[in-house]
Amino acid sequence: MEICESIPCPFCGQSSEVAIDTSVPDQRFTTDCEVCCRPFEVTVTCEPGKILSLDVSGN
Ligand SMILES: [Zn+2]
Repeated sequence: MEICESIPCPFCGQSSEVAIDTSVPDQRFTTDCEVCCRPFEVTVTCEPGKILSLDVSGN
């Protein structure tokens, strides 16, 4: 099950919607900000249908 989550960019603060597959309990991926185009890393912990924690870190 996928959930659309609004994730804030650690550089410019702009939130963007990212689809997260909650069937994967621990995941980490890199996404590019749509506004400032800088890549940042997202770490997500979830259980099916629910996001437990979400961390964002920029390099
Ligand atoms: Zn940004």
